[in-house]
Amino acid sequence: MVERTGDSSVCRVAGEDCRYQSELLQLRQEVEQLTEQARTDALTGLFNFRHFNETLNHEMERVRRSGQPLALVIGDIDHFKRFNDTHGHEMGNRLLQSVAGTVDRQLRKLDIACRYGGEEFAVILPGTPLGQASKVAERIRAAVESLMLGDEAGQPLQVTMSLGVAGFVASQTCTPSRLIDAADAELYSAKAAGRNRVSTAREKLTADQSVTNEEKSALFALLRDDDSQTNRE
Ligand code: GH3
Ligand code: MG
Ligand code: MG
Repeated sequence: MVERTGDSSVCRVAGEDCRYQSELLQLRQEVEQLTEQARTDALTGLFNFRHFNETLNHEMERVRRSGQPLALVIGDIDHFKRFNDTHGHEMGNRLLQSVAGTVDRQLRKLDIACRYGGEEFAVILPGTPLGQASKVAERIRAAVESLMLGDEAGQPLQVTMSLGVAGFVASQTCTPSRLIDAADAELYSAKAAGRNRVSTAREKLTADQSVTNEEKSALFALLRDDDSQTNRE
């Protein structure tokens, strides 16, 4: 058994002479590194898609308990294929890194910025009402538009992003995939309206006729988990 006391760790059984101590500490460090790697996107340093899914589930459960609202923003770089075709994949990768850093700098510590897919980013905003989330998305859009980038010849490069925003409050009946679909639908509207803009969901997400049986079972499973968790607490 190794106890951590500040920087030093001492084995309770064998003390300083424990031959397993340094090995155990090294393994702990490796586990921490691997845990970090498993949830991080290697190119951008943001959280990856897997972590996004886990966190969204978790945060939506928290909304039901705390009553605090949550918002989801999905952003997609405009005409990124054209950028790749013109400037090459490597420049495209550098652009992804710049945009990721820009998105992250617009957020609070509690917000969770993820690389959702190739040139798509998702941001979970805990404790944030829809109107406020829309302002955050607009801030991201403006910051991306203002990015000062240059091509190989030092010529300025323009990049823009379209974003969709959807919200979730405790009184609503909604699954994570339904919330993602809602933000995605708004992103699609932003693209269709001309790109480089934010579109925000106005309608409440409710369990209506369009909810599939699969969605209902997922929802009830979540509620059951929630109840058993509450009973344990
Ligand atoms: P839209 O404005 O409608 O979003 O158009 P778009 O060109 O951005 O979208 P599209 O889906 O047609 O193209 C996305 C491109 O992103 C195509 C793909 O090659 C590129 N891409 C995906 N992942 C990466 C990556 O990791 N690095 C680079 N450089 N490019 C990537
Ligand atoms: Mg895309
Ligand atoms: Mg795109």
